[in-house]
Amino acid sequence: MTIDSCEVQEPSIAQKEWENLIVQTPEHVRETVAEVIDRHAKDCVQRFYEVLLGNADAAPFLSNEIVDTRLRVALVRWLKELFSHDAPDAANLVQTQQRIGAAHARIQIPIHVVMHGARLLKRKLRMFIQSLGLNGSEYSMSTAYAEDMIDIAIEVMSLEFVKGTRKEVEVNEAFRLMSLGKDISLERETQRAALLEWGQSFLLDICYGGDSASTLSDSAFGLWLRHKGSVLFQGAPEIDVVSKAVEHVDNELVPALVAKRPVSPKAIKALQGALEEIHYMMDQLFKTAEAVENGRDPLTQTLSRRFLPTILGREVSLSLRRNVPFSVLMVDIDHFKSINDQLGHVAGDSVLRSVAKILLAQCRMSDFVFRYGGEEFLVLLTETAEEKAIQIAERIREAIERSSALAVNGNDIHVTASFGIATFDGHPDYRYLIEDADRALYLAKAAGRNRWYVSKGKHTH
Ligand code: GH3
Ligand code: MG
Ligand code: MG
Repeated sequence: MTIDSCEVQEPSIAQKEWENLIVQTPEHVRETVAEVIDRHAKDCVQRFYEVLLGNADAAPFLSNEIVDTRLRVALVRWLKELFSHDAPDAANLVQTQQRIGAAHARIQIPIHVVMHGARLLKRKLRMFIQSLGLNGSEYSMSTAYAEDMIDIAIEVMSLEFVKGTRKEVEVNEAFRLMSLGKDISLERETQRAALLEWGQSFLLDICYGGDSASTLSDSAFGLWLRHKGSVLFQGAPEIDVVSKAVEHVDNELVPALVAKRPVSPKAIKALQGALEEIHYMMDQLFKTAEAVENGRDPLTQTLSRRFLPTILGREVSLSLRRNVPFSVLMVDIDHFKSINDQLGHVAGDSVLRSVAKILLAQCRMSDFVFRYGGEEFLVLLTETAEEKAIQIAERIREAIERSSALAVNGNDIHVTASFGIATFDGHPDYRYLIEDADRALYLAKAAGRNRWYVSKGKHTH
């Protein structure tokens, strides 16, 4: 299972442009560049590293030993695929760049660092092409081809990067809301009361002759909306509608009521109507926020998987900064399907709840338990090295085996689970860690279940 699902899309504009570029470039020109890459890819990458390591923004992403060796190999491979001897396949190229862009977003490499790298590569390639001593038109065709190929690749990468970053921001937002969440229902009641109170006291003022009625925007509700509400509901379209409705109240309805004596019942009705509308929209906003706040899986009360990227991303940067490892356990209930088949789905659900309860009970407050899939959980053990993670996995394994997952007609039903253990190895892309744990889990299943396996960490990609 992977974290992000892939979308199948129509061929993009970039892909079509790419196809055109490849088709329109004479074969011998492509061949010239392919040969340059064959001969000099390693030099290009070497130079790329030397320069980027001197760039303060880029160095933190490159100084890690694993990234260093792996990225060098990956870059050479990237160049070879981009400038392959056979006409490169645009659709494949697009996919590769999208994958890289998504990885950059997960690692949070700034776009300008990638652009900088691309510029260095282009310069280096120009130099190598120049050294071939081609005639003027051949030289310019070859360099134009090389540069356009790199430019399109970076464009596709950046597009994916921006998409990934946007997603990240949204999930961060949701996570923030969830952390603020404890107060959401209180907040909702307070704001409802504040809106109501302003309406009542304004109308009282008007009806009993006071003309110092305050505006809605200056009321407690208006203040909250401007400062807190807009942060809390950032990005929700309703928040703009509410702000506009408040303006409408203050600029149109309030002056109309204040100016005219005796007070017109129609104007009062209009004001009440506007306030009701605001009330309704606020209700909608709070409803959405409450759904987000409830970022837990309703069945098991473990964390929803959509917070996994945010939380893992944070753990990765904390771990890199403090140089303290963390581990993940991929936990999968054994032969769960047969529980469903023999005892029914409701019984299956109960078993899931009891296993989740054990996981939550066996972990520390600082650990995270996610529902990763149907009967699969991911446990993130913060500040935990491999040795300790193994002990915890064993403790959980025993606890699950020992306890009664379900009682049916007075008989205890027992289940077991298998575990894949992986410890953070310094690669900033958390996806490898999950893949490692997944692979270890697979080995535990294959070896007979009800056991744990440790990833040897030698992930490939
Ligand atoms: P293995 O030991 O290899 O993990 O075997 P398994 O039977 O546990 O694994 P498999 O992946 O074949 O089956 C998982 C089953 O879990 C299939 C699916 O119907 C069931 N399942 C997934 N989500 C839920 C759920 O929320 N409730 C219930 N009752 N069953 C679920
Ligand atoms: Mg299973
Ligand atoms: Mg499974």
